Amino acid sequence: MPLALYDTWSRSVRPFAPLQPEHVGLYCCGPTVYDYAHIGNLRTYVFEDVLRRVLMLNGYQVRHVVNITDVGHLVSDADEGEDKMEKGSRRTGQSAWAIAAHYTEAFQSDWRALNLLEPTAWPRATDHIPEQLEFIAELQRNGYTYQTSDGVYFDTTRQDDYGHLARLERAGLRAGKRVAMGEKRDACDFALWKFSPADSQRQMEWDSPWGRGFPGWHIECSAMSAKYLGPWFDIHCGGEDHVGVHHSNEIAQTQARHGTRLANFWMHGHFLTLDDKKMTKADGDFVRLQTLIDQGIDPLAYRYLCLTAHYRSTLRFTEEAIGGAQSALDRLRKAYASWPVGGTAHEDFVSRFNAEVNQDLNVPRALALLWELVRSDVPAATRRATVDHFDTVLGLRLDDWQAPVQQVPADIAALLASRQEARAAGDWAEADRLRNALRDQGWQVEDSADGQRWSRCEK
Ligand SMILES: [Zn+2]
Repeated sequence: MPLALYDTWSRSVRPFAPLQPEHVGLYCCGPTVYDYAHIGNLRTYVFEDVLRRVLMLNGYQVRHVVNITDVGHLVSDADEGEDKMEKGSRRTGQSAWAIAAHYTEAFQSDWRALNLLEPTAWPRATDHIPEQLEFIAELQRNGYTYQTSDGVYFDTTRQDDYGHLARLERAGLRAGKRVAMGEKRDACDFALWKFSPADSQRQMEWDSPWGRGFPGWHIECSAMSAKYLGPWFDIHCGGEDHVGVHHSNEIAQTQARHGTRLANFWMHGHFLTLDDKKMTKADGDFVRLQTLIDQGIDPLAYRYLCLTAHYRSTLRFTEEAIGGAQSALDRLRKAYASWPVGGTAHEDFVSRFNAEVNQDLNVPRALALLWELVRSDVPAATRRATVDHFDTVLGLRLDDWQAPVQQVPADIAALLASRQEARAAGDWAEADRLRNALRDQGWQVEDSADGQRWSRCEK
C-alpha cells in the first residue's frame, strides 16, 4: 500500500509523492531553549521521528531539519511580553547565551535517549540573522511591511487567504480577539523585527536597516527552512498549537516572498495531557524525561507509550499508562532476546506492517500486529527477523538490549563470568575458548567498550 499522510492544509489524508524523485525535505519546528523540554513537547518529536523512519522505509532519502530557537520567541504569541531567553536569563542569573547552550545540550540529550534519528541539520536562529534580515528586506520591497515605534510588522491584510491553514475567519477573529493592538494595524499582523527597548540593554541584539533589535520568532523558520530545504519542500511539521499563529505566519511570509505555501504537506502532532490538562511550561510544574528516568522508567518506555496512540489523537499521560508501557517493553525485550538470530522476515507480517504505517502512520495498529506476531506460532528465528524489520520504524532498539545476567540461565551466566575473568587477566586464548563454548550453547558474545554483550543465537 502506497504511503498516504494527513495534510492539515487540505484537511485530508492524501497520497504522498515527493517533489523530487527519491528525496524528501522535512522541516520540524524545534525547541525554544530557555527551559527543559517537557514530555508533551517530546511527544511531537517522537511522531516526527516515526514519520522520518516511515519515509525511509518507503525508500526515500530524508533531509531533516530541526531549528533551535535561541532568540525572539516572546512570552506571548501576540508580539508582547519579554523574550523567553532574556526571561530565562533573569530567572537563573546566567547569560542568555549560556542558557541557550545549556538547554540545547539538555534537549539533544533527551533526543538521543528517545532514539530519535539525528537530523541532517540543527540550525540556530542566532546563526542566521543575515538570512532573516534579507528576508525582511525582501518583504519590505514587496510592500508587505510597515514600521511602528517598536518594530517592523507584517501586514496580513495584503493577503486574502491569510490563515487558510487554520481556517481563520478574519472578520470574526478581528472582532473576537482581545489582544492589545499597540500600533499594529490589524490583530493578525505580527512582528518581523523588534527594536531593543530604549530603557534596558538586551543581551541578544543586532543592527538592522530599521534599528537595533532582534528578529521575530516566525521569520526564523521561514528563513532557515528556505535556506536548508528551499522555499517549496515536502513536509513541514510541528505541534498542533502552531497551526493558528506560528505556521500561519510562516506561510504568510513565504507566500509574500517566494509565492509558495512553504510545504506540500503540513503535519501536526497532537497534545499529551496530564490529568486531562494540556501540559505547559507556564504551569511551572511539568514532567521532563529526566523526571521519568529518576522514577526508574526507561526513556524508551516513554517512546513506547507514544507509539500506543495515533499522532492525531490526544494521549493521556497517567502513572498507570507509563507503568503499562514499561512492562510491555520489558515483556517484548525478554521475548525478543529469547529468539535465536539467523531467520528471515515473515513476508505476510512485513507487508501488513508496512500497510499499517503507510496509512497515515497507524502505529497503534502496527504495535497490535507486533504482539500478534509475538504470540504466534511463527518459528522464533523468523519472529526475530520480522521484529527487526518492525523496529526500523518503532525505534525501540530491541537488538541493543541484553537480558540482565539474572535472567540468563545459570550455566550460561557462569560461562560469561569465567570469560570476563579470563579477559581481565589477559588470557585471550581462554576467553576465545569460552566464547566458542557459549556459542555451542546458543549464546553469542561480543566485546564492547562497556564489557561483554550477549544475546541468543542459533546453535
Ligand atoms: Zn517554526
